[in-house]
Amino acid sequence: MTDERPVVTPFFGLRPAPSASRPRDERPGVGGQTPEALAAWFAERGHPAYRARQVLDAAWRGRQASFDEILTLPSPLRAELAEAFRFDTVEESEIRFTDGVLTEKAVHRLSDGLLVESVLMHYPARADARERHTLCISSQAGCAVGCPFCATGELGMERDLETAEIVDQVRHAARRLTADERHLTNVVFMGMGEPLLNLDRVLESIAALNDPRRFGLGARHITVSTSGVVNGIRRLTALGPQFTLAISLHAARDALRDVLVPLNRRWPVEEVVAAAREHAEVTGRRVTYEVTMIDGINDTDIDADAMAELLRGELAHVNLIPMNAVAHTPWTGTPIPRVEAFAERLRAAGIATTIRFNRGTAIGAACGQLAAEHAGQPTPIVVQRRREKLVAQSAAALRGERSGEPVPAGTGER
Ligand code: SAH
Ligand code: SF4
Repeated sequence: MTDERPVVTPFFGLRPAPSASRPRDERPGVGGQTPEALAAWFAERGHPAYRARQVLDAAWRGRQASFDEILTLPSPLRAELAEAFRFDTVEESEIRFTDGVLTEKAVHRLSDGLLVESVLMHYPARADARERHTLCISSQAGCAVGCPFCATGELGMERDLETAEIVDQVRHAARRLTADERHLTNVVFMGMGEPLLNLDRVLESIAALNDPRRFGLGARHITVSTSGVVNGIRRLTALGPQFTLAISLHAARDALRDVLVPLNRRWPVEEVVAAAREHAEVTGRRVTYEVTMIDGINDTDIDADAMAELLRGELAHVNLIPMNAVAHTPWTGTPIPRVEAFAERLRAAGIATTIRFNRGTAIGAACGQLAAEHAGQPTPIVVQRRREKLVAQSAAALRGERSGEPVPAGTGER
C-alpha cells in the first residue's frame, strides 16, 4: 500500500439508480462459466481445448479488463468471445477509501443500471497474524428481509444477482490488489442481500471461488452470513461444505427478534439455532453468531442472559458489533462499555465472544450496511412514521409481545 493514495476519492461518474433503468445484457458473464461449459463452447466452434484454459487464466488470474486485452488469443476469437460473453458484469465501478486507506468501498453498476456495493478491508500484519485482505460482497440488489437497522433492508428487494455478478466483485478486487502485488485472502457474503435466498447462485459462486482452476480460494476463507433462512441452512448442511456459516442473531428472544429480523416470524430463533447446530455437527465447523448491538434495544442484561441460555453448549462463537446509525431508524449503536459488559456476561456463561468494530463508517461502507446511495430518499414525514412505528414495535417487543406483522414478501421457499 502506498501512502500517496488519497484518503477519499470523490464519486464522479456513477449516478444513483434506485431501480433498473435499462434492459439487462443477455450475454452471460465469463466469470459465471464453469471450465466444462467454457470447454464445450470452444469445442462446439472447433477451437482447440487450450483456448478455454487461456480464457480462464486471463479471467481469474490476469490483469486484463476485457477480452481485447487477452493478447494470447487471435483477434477474431476475441471478437467472437465478446459477442457471446461479457468479460465483466460489474464493469463500471467507483472506489472510495477511508480509515486511512484501510477500507475501500466499491460501487458497481450492473448491466440494467442497478448499483451494488462491495467493501475491501485491509488488515496489516501483526505479530500473531499475517496480512489479510477481506472482501465483503453482495448477493442481491436490495433485500426482501427488511431488518429495520439495515440500510440494504430499507431499499427493499430489487433482484437476485447472477453468478457472474457475484464473482465479478471478487475478480474486480483481486485485480486491484494484484496491481499492488497483494492478494485477496478472505471473502465474506455480508454485503447487500440475503445469500440463502439466492442460494443456487451463491453456491455456484463459492464453487468458482473455491475451484483451483479458477480463483482457488480455500473454503475456510469464505464466510456466508444469513439472517436465518432455515431451509437454506439445511441445504448447506446436506452439501457438507467447509466454509464458515455466520448467523445474524441480534436477539435471543422471539418477540424482539421478530422486529429486528422480520424473517423470525417464519423461522423462530430456536429453529435457526437448531439448524445451525446440525450444520456445526455435520461440518465440524464452529458457527459464528453476529449480534448488531442497538442502544437500549437488544443490549440489556436480560438479553445477554437469554442469549447465553440459547447458545449454551453450542459449537459457537459470538461476534458483537455496535450498530452503525442509519437515517431511517431512531436507534444508535450501543456504547462500548455496555458492549463490553454484554460480552463479559456471555463469557461468564462459557460462550466465546469477541467484539468487532465496523470498518468504513465514514463512507457508509460498514460491511453489511450497504445501500448504493439511491436517488429517491424517503421524505422526512415517511422517515418520522417509520421511526415512530419502530419505537412502538420495539417497546412492545421489550414487554415480550410478539409481532402480528406478516412475514416479509419475497422471502418464500426456494
Ligand atoms: N443478509 C445477510 C448478510 C448481509 S448483512 C445477513 O443478514 O446476515 C451482514 C451483517 O451486517 C448482518 O449481521 C447484519 O445484521 C449487519 N448489519 C446490517 N446493518 C447494520 C448496521 N447498520 N450496523 C451494523 N451491522 C449491520
Ligand atoms: Fe437483508 Fe441482512 Fe440487511 Fe437483514 S441485515 S435486511 S437480511 S441484508
